[in-house]
Amino acid sequence: MGYEAVIGLEIHVQLSCTTKMFCDCPNTPGDDPNTNICPICLWLPGAVPRFSLETLEKATLACLALNCDIQPRSAFDQKVYYYPDLPKGFQLSQHHRPLARGGWIDIIDEDGKPKKLRLHHVHMEEDVAKLVHETEGRTPVSLVDFNRAGTPLIEIVTEPDMRTPHDATAFLKVLRTQLRYTGCAECSMDQGTMRCDANISLRPLGSDQLNTKVEVKNMNSIQHVGNAIAYEIKRQTESLKNNEPIVLHTRLWDPEKGITTAMRAKFEGPCVPDPAVTQILVTDEWLREIASKLPEMPHQKVNRFVRQCGLTHDEAAQMSSEREISEYFEAVVKFGASPRTVANWMATQLLPAVKEHGHEFATSPVTARRFSGLITMLEKDEINSNSARSVLNRLFETAKSPEEIVDQFGFRQVSETAALRSIVDQVISENMSAVENYKNGNKKSIGFLVGQAMKLSQGKANPKRLQEILRESLA
Ligand SMILES: [Zn+2]
Repeated sequence: MGYEAVIGLEIHVQLSCTTKMFCDCPNTPGDDPNTNICPICLWLPGAVPRFSLETLEKATLACLALNCDIQPRSAFDQKVYYYPDLPKGFQLSQHHRPLARGGWIDIIDEDGKPKKLRLHHVHMEEDVAKLVHETEGRTPVSLVDFNRAGTPLIEIVTEPDMRTPHDATAFLKVLRTQLRYTGCAECSMDQGTMRCDANISLRPLGSDQLNTKVEVKNMNSIQHVGNAIAYEIKRQTESLKNNEPIVLHTRLWDPEKGITTAMRAKFEGPCVPDPAVTQILVTDEWLREIASKLPEMPHQKVNRFVRQCGLTHDEAAQMSSEREISEYFEAVVKFGASPRTVANWMATQLLPAVKEHGHEFATSPVTARRFSGLITMLEKDEINSNSARSVLNRLFETAKSPEEIVDQFGFRQVSETAALRSIVDQVISENMSAVENYKNGNKKSIGFLVGQAMKLSQGKANPKRLQEILRESLA
C-alpha cells in the first residue's frame, strides 16, 4: 500500500524589537550573559509585566504580510510547565485567543505548479531563558542566561497542507523572505531567530484521515528540516509496513548522523488565562495605520519588474528575493543602466563577488552608483565583459570610480577600425596555416584566429568588431 505524508510546521520567529516583550531591557540576547535583565524578565515574584506596543505593531505587521486575519480581541495565557530555563513555572503565550487566524503562503511545488499553504493561526509568546552546558574542571554544569528571557516571539502554526520535504522547505524560504521584507524579523535559522518544529504523520494514499503524528525538533537550517522530514517519512513507512503502531511523541534531529531519535517527554501543564497582562483590543483605525506600513511584497515586486523593466519572470524573482537586493536593483536602474543587463550582472557577477570578497550585500563597497557606472561603460562598448569583471573585482579594493579604474589599468576597449585592422593583419601574417585551413573550408579556424587577436590586444579588443574585420580580411 502507498502512503502519503501529512506535514505541518510550527515556526518561532524572534521579532526585531528594541526592547523585550514585557520590560524595557534591550532585545539583544547575544550580549554578555545576564547583562540585559531586570526583576520583570528575571520573573521575580511580584514583578508586573508591561506589554510593549512595539511587539504588537511588529507582530501585527508580520501577520498582515502572511495574509492573516487580525483578531479584534486577543489575550495572553500562562502555559504552565517547569524547566530550569523557565523558573517562574509558566510562559506567557496566547493559547485561547491568538493575535491572528488564517492566512496563507504561495509556493511552487515539486512539479512547478503554484500551491497555497494555509496557516492555522499566529500567536505572540515570550521566549524562555537559555541553558548553557559547560564543564568546570571535570564537573558538568548548566548555566542559565536570562538575556533571552522575555524576548518577543511570534509562533506561526500551519495547517497540515504540506506533503513533501520540498513543500516544507519552499514554505520556509517564502516565509523568511516575506517576513524579512517587513523589517520585523531577521529570520536566521543559524542565529536562532527562526526555529522550526515539524509534525509528520502518514496515511494511505487517497485517504482524508489525520493519523497519529510525530513531532521533530531541533533543526537549525532549512535543509535540516527537509532532511529530517524525509528521514521521518521513511522511518514511519517502515514501521507501518512492519505493523508497528505510530505513537505520539517528540524526536530530535541529529544532523551528524542524519537520523531522528526519540526524546524524553516534558511535562506539559494546562493553559490558563493570565490575570496580569491586559487583553489586546485592535481597532480598525489602528489596523489601517499598521497596514499602511506594509511594504510592497515580493510577488507584487516580481509583477512590477516584469511589467515595468521587461525582466523575465525568473530574473524578476531573483531581483526580488531580498528586499535589499530589489532596492539596489532599482537604484542601479535609476542611474540609467538598462534593467536586463543590470539583473543579469547582479545575479551572475555581483552577488557571487560580494560573497567571495567576504561582504554582506547590504554593506558591500560596490554601491549602486559605482555598479551602475560599470554597467553603463559595458553597455556603451567602452569595455568588454572580461574587463568589466576585472573592474568589478577592483571595486572591492579601492574607492575609485569604475571610470578611473578603467583608465588606470588601461581597460578601455579598442573599437576603432584602424587599430583593430592592424591587429588582424599581424595575426593573419603570423598564422598562415590557420588562415589556409579557414580558406579550405574549416570554418572553426576563425575561433583560433579571434583568440590570437584578443591575446594580442591584451584582452581589450571589442570581440564583435574584431570578428567582423577578421571575416572581411579573410573573405
Ligand atoms: Zn527586563
